Amino acid sequence: MSENLNPFAIAQAQLDEAAAVLQLDPDMHAFLREPMREFHFTIPVKMDDGSTKTFQGFRVQYNDARGPAKGGIRFHPDETIDTVRALAAWMTWKTAVSDIPLGGGKGGIICNPRTMSPGELERLSRGYMRNIARYIGITQDVPAPDVNTHPQIMAWMLDEYEKLMGWHEPGVITGKPLPLGGSQGRTPATALGGLFTIREAAKARGLSLDGATCAIQGYGNVGSHAHQLAGQFGLNVVAVSDEFGAIYNPHGLDHKVVTDHLRRHGKVVDCPETEAINNAELLELNVDILIPAAIENQLTSQNAARIKAKIVAELANGPTTPEADNILNDKGVYIIPDFLCNAGGVIVSYFEMVQNGYQFYWDEAMVNERLDQKITTAFHAVHTMSQSKKVDTRVSAYLVAVDRVAEAVRLRGWV
Ligand code: NAD
Repeated sequence: MSENLNPFAIAQAQLDEAAAVLQLDPDMHAFLREPMREFHFTIPVKMDDGSTKTFQGFRVQYNDARGPAKGGIRFHPDETIDTVRALAAWMTWKTAVSDIPLGGGKGGIICNPRTMSPGELERLSRGYMRNIARYIGITQDVPAPDVNTHPQIMAWMLDEYEKLMGWHEPGVITGKPLPLGGSQGRTPATALGGLFTIREAAKARGLSLDGATCAIQGYGNVGSHAHQLAGQFGLNVVAVSDEFGAIYNPHGLDHKVVTDHLRRHGKVVDCPETEAINNAELLELNVDILIPAAIENQLTSQNAARIKAKIVAELANGPTTPEADNILNDKGVYIIPDFLCNAGGVIVSYFEMVQNGYQFYWDEAMVNERLDQKITTAFHAVHTMSQSKKVDTRVSAYLVAVDRVAEAVRLRGWV
């Protein structure tokens, strides 16, 4: 049978596996397999050339038993409702495993932001917010940035929401620019959180990170910050990639040189003092740590047997298919599963909501220290569960998270 790459089918299959280990009540299992609510809508946008283009938008509130739904908004030409559903499910497990009082949601627009002007993007962002404004809020659902969306887009959306409501409510959206109530440390938080989990996984594996080699797939917000911060953890990043190709230098890549090159040329390939390799080769390099930080379904049954890394740190969402998971686990690779590894972003988003609520802001050192505490605690809950139940780390992350969400659902009397 061919490998099923539908992300929502994968998310459901992962839940099914955890439900079997947990011996989850079948009614609870059926409830947790589906999103609680979703919104599909069209967004007509006046384009610069005078035409009107209609875009398709989605917002999925997967589960809000533990608190308001929380999750980013993606702008992507290949966005599908099933991708958004899967990501909303993973957000539910992510907020639960991180033990923050939020549920899970996700949003998306089918669009190619690279071909749009700033004015068109602003009108699209405001149009998206007009569609969802009445269904979101600090007590209902709090969006954030994700693939191809950034603080400026959050600022436009916040402004549109506040105009519609007639009051200030900065906590309605996170990942805002600092002058509008953003948090210090939010932009690098996903990467930094992932590096904290790599530090803990290396300790668990008895692996020293001092000079350990690392390859990073994807050089956007997450991948680039992971490269920038990796040195603080002793890691030597020898290869990075973007959608156009990959670069390699066995002695290490300098973050500033790569980002300067990317800024000038729009891609990492041809960066000075690097060898060009392709994206498939990057994944199979002989490195200690592999960080997928791009898109879904990158480690599959086709390449998993050739992965040489000792630790796979899933900063991207859904980079590993279930078939690849089995192959990597059999090889003894330590997988830090996506919704644990990349929880740093939502943890600091939660800190941003807390600061907005108090109207009192923390410095970056305090944000990072609290992030370290939260994600390290989450890592050890998952690692300990994995050892005690003798299951792989992804299943154990599900056990911790699903148990917490199911308990909230039960206490509310929904199932
Ligand atoms: P981004 O859009 O800033 O960057 C994505 C990067 O991946 C770009 O460099 C792009 O060129 C590259 N890429 C795309 N297709 C590729 C391919 N086939 N091979 C190699 N590189 C490819 O996105 P981001 O915010 O850095 O997010 C990356 C991943 O991390 C996504 O899976 C996202 O869902 C996840 N994530 C992001 C955050 C966050 O805070 N930004 C939080 C949690 C999870």
